[in-house]
Amino acid sequence: MDNTFDVIVVGTSFSSSFFLHNYLAKARKDIRILVLERGQKNSHQWQVKNRKLTNISTNSSHVNNNPAKHWKYIIGFGGSSRAWWACTPRLMPNDLKLKSVYGVGRDWPISYDELEPYYTEAERIMSVSGPNDAPYPRSQPYPQPPHRFNNPDKILKQAYPDLYFQQATARVRQATKNRALCCNNGVCGLCPIDVKFTIQNELEYLYSDPRITLLLEAEALGVETTAGIATGVRYLQAGIEKIAKADLVVLGTNAIFNPYLLQRSNLLHPLLGKRLNEQISMWAKIDLIGVDSFQGSTSISANGYMLYDGPHRAEYSACLMEVHNVPNLRTERGRWRQRANIKLIFEDLPDEKNYVKVNETDPSKPETVHKGFSAYTMRAIDKLPELLPKALAPLPIENLTITGHSKGESHILGTVVMGDDPEISIVDKYLVHHQVRNLLVLGGSAFPSCSPSNPTLTISALSLWAATHL
Ligand SMILES: Cc1cc2nc3c(=O)[nH]c(=O)nc-3n(C[C@H](O)[C@H](O)[C@H](O)COP(=O)(O)OP(=O)(O)OC[C@H]3O[C@@H](n4cnc5c(N)ncnc54)[C@H](O)[C@@H]3O)c2cc1C
Repeated sequence: MDNTFDVIVVGTSFSSSFFLHNYLAKARKDIRILVLERGQKNSHQWQVKNRKLTNISTNSSHVNNNPAKHWKYIIGFGGSSRAWWACTPRLMPNDLKLKSVYGVGRDWPISYDELEPYYTEAERIMSVSGPNDAPYPRSQPYPQPPHRFNNPDKILKQAYPDLYFQQATARVRQATKNRALCCNNGVCGLCPIDVKFTIQNELEYLYSDPRITLLLEAEALGVETTAGIATGVRYLQAGIEKIAKADLVVLGTNAIFNPYLLQRSNLLHPLLGKRLNEQISMWAKIDLIGVDSFQGSTSISANGYMLYDGPHRAEYSACLMEVHNVPNLRTERGRWRQRANIKLIFEDLPDEKNYVKVNETDPSKPETVHKGFSAYTMRAIDKLPELLPKALAPLPIENLTITGHSKGESHILGTVVMGDDPEISIVDKYLVHHQVRNLLVLGGSAFPSCSPSNPTLTISALSLWAATHL
């Protein structure tokens, strides 16, 4: 095979596929694009039949130095779109300007208004269902109507009309050409009826474009450069190391593998791999008096913003409430459904003490080092027993129990940070590497701040934005 291409894209998940979506729309008819994907293509039927998402375990692909902290992702065609729950809130405008509004963390080099049309486009591609009165400014209605609330949601919506909403989600409310409508079976990690948006059910067609050569089980090992210009990618396929050449290199391998590949390519920067972060979550189990729940039409029926934005963010972090509508019943006869289960998701403040590096014993793997969440985040968690009962006061609460935090949110962020100043950032606002100007590094690795909101709609919108501005 002639191993010279115009473009090489690494990875086939949200970052890469949304980039290709807009890039192919404007690229020359004779352009040659090589896509390298480390994993296999396992069909949805294969996943359901084998009751697993991939044949490569997360644990085997990176070294984790902290057993109390997990970083979850899927290797394979379509990446973690196979596993995600398809919760798709946008970030709030103030999430992008934490520093200028609240004096903490960092601002993004891109504003909410600049990103807004790309959010709209990403929502259209995913057929997102959401409310007309969303908490953030929108130029267009959601492509699909909102899911149905459960009864506790209705009480909270009445009490907080501007802070409580049906969750925006790519678990569809109405069937699409490729997807059934959500029936709230609650097994969203591997939806048996293929409801949630995945790369495989909606964007796999991109990879049949005659301009694309897709190599599966081809693991990128590093970016080749000469005199500050990317010239190609070194990769491993069937045990043989090869080099493919190209004029443009695009990495979309997530916030663990993006910095690792740059480290292995010797494209170093004092912040490369640092600021590894994601949210931390707690759970509240609320027994109710006389109100039945679980009537919603999807597994997570609502998002509450009562503890999210406001002056408190100068002191402690924002918290997003996720109302889980999958039955988790009480034991008392006649009162089984008198319960609400709410996940409370807190943003972290990225810190250099948490990072990704090349593992010294086995350099073929990245190592994640996590020394802890910020004091900013822990202060918010400490305040929860005081703040949550007040926020949920409109509900007839018999008993409210807060339980411990999760080991991982599966939202890996921050390790190839974007910004205007090359001294303190690695990619610019278009996700182009500051030093190597024909190298793009896509995905959550670019996020300057965390936000409590799920990141993937923003990751996808940023890829559309990057491809459009290239
Ligand atoms: C269980 C779970 C639930 C989640 N739920 C949600 C949710 O509800 N909402 C939300 O916003 N987010 C959710 N996420 C997070 C979401 O899945 C990620 O934010 C998103 O997948 C990131 O997309 P990405 O393209 O940047 O990276 P990934 O999805 O991680 O994909 C990386 C791609 O690169 C490939 N790759 C990696 N290394 C190499 C290499 N060296 N060479 C070639 N290819 C390589 C991988 O195989 C994969 O195709 C969830 C994640 C998990 C695991």
